[in-house]
Amino acid sequence: MKFTIYCFPPKKNSYSRMERLGKSLKTNVIIMKSRVTRYAVYGVLIAITAMVVATLLNCYLEFREVSLTTILNVQKKNTALWILDCMPFIFAFWGQYVSSIMAYEASTLVIDQTNELRNQTVALEYQAMHDATHDHLTDLPNRILLRDRLEQAIHAALREKQQLALFILDLDHFKEVNDTLGHYSGDLLLKHVAMRLKGIVRGSDTLSRLGGDEFAILLPIIKESNDVFIVLKKIQNAFLSPFVIESLKIEVQASIGVAIYPDHGRDFDTIMQRADVAMYAAKQNQQSYTVFSSDLDKHSPHRLTLTGELRHAIENDALLVYYQPKIDIGTNTVTGVEALVRWQHPQHGFMSPDEFIPLAERTGLIKPLSLWVMKRAIEQTVQWHAANLKLGIAINLSPSTLLDPELPDFISGFLAANNLPAHYITFEITEGSIIKDPDRALEILTRLDELGIRISIDDFGTGYSSLAYLKKMPASEVKIDKSFVLDMLVDENDRAIVQATIDLAHNLGMKVVAEGVEGKETAQRLKELGCDVLQGYYFSRPLAPKNLLEWHNTHTKA
Ligand code: C2E
Ligand code: CA
Ligand code: CA
Repeated sequence: MKFTIYCFPPKKNSYSRMERLGKSLKTNVIIMKSRVTRYAVYGVLIAITAMVVATLLNCYLEFREVSLTTILNVQKKNTALWILDCMPFIFAFWGQYVSSIMAYEASTLVIDQTNELRNQTVALEYQAMHDATHDHLTDLPNRILLRDRLEQAIHAALREKQQLALFILDLDHFKEVNDTLGHYSGDLLLKHVAMRLKGIVRGSDTLSRLGGDEFAILLPIIKESNDVFIVLKKIQNAFLSPFVIESLKIEVQASIGVAIYPDHGRDFDTIMQRADVAMYAAKQNQQSYTVFSSDLDKHSPHRLTLTGELRHAIENDALLVYYQPKIDIGTNTVTGVEALVRWQHPQHGFMSPDEFIPLAERTGLIKPLSLWVMKRAIEQTVQWHAANLKLGIAINLSPSTLLDPELPDFISGFLAANNLPAHYITFEITEGSIIKDPDRALEILTRLDELGIRISIDDFGTGYSSLAYLKKMPASEVKIDKSFVLDMLVDENDRAIVQATIDLAHNLGMKVVAEGVEGKETAQRLKELGCDVLQGYYFSRPLAPKNLLEWHNTHTKA
């Protein structure tokens, strides 16, 4: 086992720090001694004063005269005065003695407390380091520690000319468990999975939780490829019996992707990405596991190089935003547009956001991407307003963007810079992003609502909607997902869902938008059902800004 992250070698300057500590202790002792000495001097002065006053008083009372002879006389005769005469010396001696004792007692106290503090600091440092490298829920190593272990293992494998294997496991349908049984049960399930997996790995392997329902297992040395299959079998066995969560039996399966060093990659990022690609292939093909092979790259859309290219595209303004009109049924006018991002990739051609938004989510690019789209969409809206086209703009927010506490400040900055009133902006958020962290979502949505921004619940009906959340959220609009709208004329269930959603939203005081309206009849039917706003190919596909202006001119004339 490697301990590079855990161990704390004595720091170079720790000895000089000790020296400094010793010096400062000595100084403290001197300061304390001098304080006590000062009080001893006061004692000596009081004793001398008492001695002088007592002698003079004695002279006066006995001889009615104060002179050198009478002073010597009383001093000789009165033994009580002898004791008084000794007092200054006693005080001086006592002061010195007590000051030394006190100063040394205090210094040992300080040393003890310093040691105690140092021990506590070391314990806290260990704790902080542990927290930074472990997952809070399962206490398994997190991605940071896995990276460290994998990099160490790569060095060792290179030196020993050995292979190593990385497994990435993703639970199937975990979201459903989380959404239907709640977060608490979801967390319990993850802990149970972690415990079962712990049981199958050896001490030298690393089991890590990468986040969400994703785990990784690192085998730092594999002698032959059969080792991989032995571990795969063990993982499969671990999922054979159902998990019991709060007396409910839950069958859970996992999709596993495997990448091997050096065949599939020679560094952390490549090995991780390839195990990830293999895991996705397993999930897509509904296989229990997939070992990476180069032809998977063809199917798993260019993931390996795409991340860098997407970052480049965001930084160089190479993405596009298209706008799809939203038509108000009551007035038959375009009241707003939905901003939909597009990527014209130099090699792969036109790429759907469904292909690269999840990638952006996984790689942390979603924040710059979302900010880019927001900025571009707001600038475009301002241009339309200047041309007297007062459109509202709906912007899609992915879960992590919504839950970013900096979002309200960013957006108010954009709005202020562009002088656009906030009520022209609608953020389309999904139920999933609310359920992910309801308290935080509510807090951020409330801040956005206070700014005057409108909130729309997107893809309504596809997640596991919780009416309790929906009621609490400051949303003003619900968007029925196109999957219900597309077939509502032929599928009775879809029509019933559309109807129920419209009634529910209206009861909660919200407007209803139907997306995916492809034909006249659907539009008519939605109108009869009481829907407020329509969006879909029947009216227009998402359009480039220039084309939207043309479309708008013809639509308003028509
Ligand atoms: P969405 O928010 O549900 O957007 C509606 C999707 O339905 C769009 O797909 C739109 O082009 C498509 N659509 C509109 N009318 C019709 C119709 O009549 N029939 C059919 N079959 N489809 C229709 P698109 O543009 O491919 O976007 C897909 C998804 O990607 C969006 O789903 C949204 O979740 C996401 N997305 C797009 N742009 C952004 C963005 O800027 N940020 C984020 N976070 N997500 C985005
Ligand atoms: Ca949307
Ligand atoms: Ca949708």
